[in-house]
Amino acid sequence: MSLGPPKSAQGFHHEAASGFARLDAEAFPVFHEGWVWLVGAGPGAPGLMSLLCYHAMQNCDVVVYDALVNPDILRWVKSGVVLEYAGKRGGKPSPVQQEISYRLIELARAGKRVLRLKGGDPFMFGRGGEESQYLAEAQIPFRIVPGITAGVGGLAYAGIPVTHRDTNHSVIFLTGHDATGKMPASVNWQAVAKASPVIVMYMAVKHLGEIAQALIEGGRTPDDPVTIVSNASLPHQVVNATVLGQAGSFVAENDPPTPAIVVVGHASDWRGMLDWYSQGLRENPIG
Ligand code: SAH
Repeated sequence: MSLGPPKSAQGFHHEAASGFARLDAEAFPVFHEGWVWLVGAGPGAPGLMSLLCYHAMQNCDVVVYDALVNPDILRWVKSGVVLEYAGKRGGKPSPVQQEISYRLIELARAGKRVLRLKGGDPFMFGRGGEESQYLAEAQIPFRIVPGITAGVGGLAYAGIPVTHRDTNHSVIFLTGHDATGKMPASVNWQAVAKASPVIVMYMAVKHLGEIAQALIEGGRTPDDPVTIVSNASLPHQVVNATVLGQAGSFVAENDPPTPAIVVVGHASDWRGMLDWYSQGLRENPIG
């Protein structure tokens, strides 16, 4: 198999404008007044934003952003745009969720072009589903712009491929706490333990001891690797490694920073070889 570029791509030169001038010339969707765009900003590094995210930042009237959006990302918003914080803290009940949705509706009805900016992907444990339901019910037109989710892109920044033919053909994504802030009772931990070699968990640090116990009771071995990636893709990214049988005490003793993604299983084994980000590359502020 040839690893070179396809023949048709050889000798191709960009004749058109380059950089941001070129972006302006592209046929991006129009951000109409009275619309809400629910946009994922990625896990943190500004370079992981999509072009549609950037386009929305240049063409909106107001940004309603949540706690996980890196302030460095907000620097890319066109000057003069109103920035509204709508953050919530993880693990707590969310009485303000409805208020955020009503605020989006209110702004849209006032004719604003509303950029609802979320960390990661808006539909991955981001309540983007709930917010767009409110918009749909209120007949507010909206667009969803997916983002790079922490459970995939964040792990990549720790040198952990979320799938690999040698370790896992399947992966489970789950949340370590439910809407009440407890370990989710609706997750069938026995089934999860058996279903997939790799389990990627969001919001799981707080209840990691209980979760690890449930997974071991469900048949996982206590020496199953556990990696905790904190502040993934950011300059202060920290990666901690433990095993399932010690995960609870590890968290109690080391108090890993949050937000953090936890991955269980042998996907972490690749990190020894693939940890590219620790090798001095993190100095670049874009990513
Ligand atoms: N929509 C987001 C997830 C929101 S839930 C996404 O797709 O990534 C919040 C959880 O996401 C956090 O508790 C943490 O588990 C994870 N998370 C988000 N950003 C992260 C980051 N930069 N590093 C590590 N974990 C992150």
